Amino acid sequence: MQEKIVQLAQELIRRPSISPNDEGCQTLIAERLEKLGFEIEWLPFNETLNLWAKHGAGEPVVAFAGHTDVVPVGDEHQWNYPPFSAEIVGDMLYGRGAADMKGSLAAMIVAAEEYVKANPHHAGTIALLITSDEEAVAKDGTVRVVETLMERGEKITYCMVGEPSSSQILGDVVKNGRRGSITANLYIQGIQGHVAYPHLADNPIHKALPFLQELSSYQWDNGSAFFPPTSLQIANIHAGTGSNNVIPGELYVQFNLRYCTEVTDEVIKQKVVEMLEKHGLKHRIEWNLSGKPFLTKLGKLVNAVVDSIKEITGITPKLETGGGTSDGRFIALMGAEVVEFGPLNATIHKVNEGVSIEDLGKCGQIYHQMLVNLLDN
Ligand SMILES: [Zn+2]
Repeated sequence: MQEKIVQLAQELIRRPSISPNDEGCQTLIAERLEKLGFEIEWLPFNETLNLWAKHGAGEPVVAFAGHTDVVPVGDEHQWNYPPFSAEIVGDMLYGRGAADMKGSLAAMIVAAEEYVKANPHHAGTIALLITSDEEAVAKDGTVRVVETLMERGEKITYCMVGEPSSSQILGDVVKNGRRGSITANLYIQGIQGHVAYPHLADNPIHKALPFLQELSSYQWDNGSAFFPPTSLQIANIHAGTGSNNVIPGELYVQFNLRYCTEVTDEVIKQKVVEMLEKHGLKHRIEWNLSGKPFLTKLGKLVNAVVDSIKEITGITPKLETGGGTSDGRFIALMGAEVVEFGPLNATIHKVNEGVSIEDLGKCGQIYHQMLVNLLDN
């Protein structure tokens, strides 16, 4: 299995599919799956290519989700090997996307192929949801496919997202949820004027200080068994004309919250507006919700994945919800149980991104064993 995975991973890495370009990765995958009797459906939206492939019928629907797009390479001269050459050195396969996530994508595909070959009449449905728009704006990828499937009443029961979740050693971390992320662009209004005539002006910086103090120190919640407490960070702040004798007319503050399931975006918005009103601040605020939090509780999928990892690696994984957002947030909206598991994330988005070949082989075995655990009894 390892050899097949590495070969496919190399073929994928050699296609320079910088987000949202797919560069033929999905055609390559579709051709392989079609040969095994998978039903192939293309769901393109604007520049983004999406693939929805299914084998079998009925429930449970076990889906593998992944992306073919990669982040830009950065300074190419800093790479030890050309980023799209898929060089193997010792146990390591190097290249942009090796760890995030063409390696695990290849492992998921080969695992599904092997399972279907051995069990052509398996229970339920095995599906693959593959997008080329995860790393950039993520507007025309998984989110649109999920909308389409929901409109049709199609279901996903269990979903494995192949994001690189492992931290120190393969199998040490499985993500069974993610925090939500919401950003506010806040404009606090004052009255511009001469610093020598403050009574004729209204300084928005001075007015905002007590509010910002309260905003940045407010305790939103205490987290939960799976989530750290919600955290608010001010990311950008700006006011002033650059001149030392002008009181500015407006203060701009941008802040982001990574929030857990103990609060909702509605509660957050309400509380911020309450604080603004309490401090008597004239303002305008724009919110941008990039993902609601989700949590997959202990259940059939988590057990199937944890057992598979234990069996293949001997390690008992920790369940975590940290890190940025992923496409799991969209699939969870379908009511699916969603977990993320994949190789080590130490080099993702960096120069000299790489993945252990042995780990890729084990990833494939784990994904395969997960199918056995979910579909064989
Ligand atoms: Zn990724």
